[in-house]
Amino acid sequence: MADDRRSGPETIQTGYRRRRKRHAVASLAIVSLVLTLAVSLSAGVQSFWLWWPAGALAVITALAYWNWRCPACGRYLGNLDPQYCAGCGARLSAPDPAPRDGGPGVG
Ligand SMILES: [Zn+2]
Repeated sequence: MADDRRSGPETIQTGYRRRRKRHAVASLAIVSLVLTLAVSLSAGVQSFWLWWPAGALAVITALAYWNWRCPACGRYLGNLDPQYCAGCGARLSAPDPAPRDGGPGVG
C-alpha cells in the first residue's frame, strides 16, 4: 500500500541529514583554517607552508559549496538549517518526534 513512498520525503530528509553533517564538519574546518591563516599572517609569518592551509581552505570551501545542495533538486541551500528547499519546496528537516511541551503558551 504505502510502498511507493520509498522515494518520498524520508529519502530527501535522510540525504539532507547526511549533507548537514558534512556541512558542519566542513564549516569547522573552514573556521579553523581561517583562524590559522589569520594568526599566522598577523604574526608576520611569510612561509611556503602557508600555502597548505590556504589550499586546504579553497578545496574545503569548494567541497562545502558542492555538498550543501538540496537532495531533491540540487539547488544551493543558503540558510544554515533550512526547513524547506527554496527551489522545489521539498521538506528537508524531519519534524521533531517529541511533542513540544512546557512552552510559554504560544497559542
Ligand atoms: Zn530542492
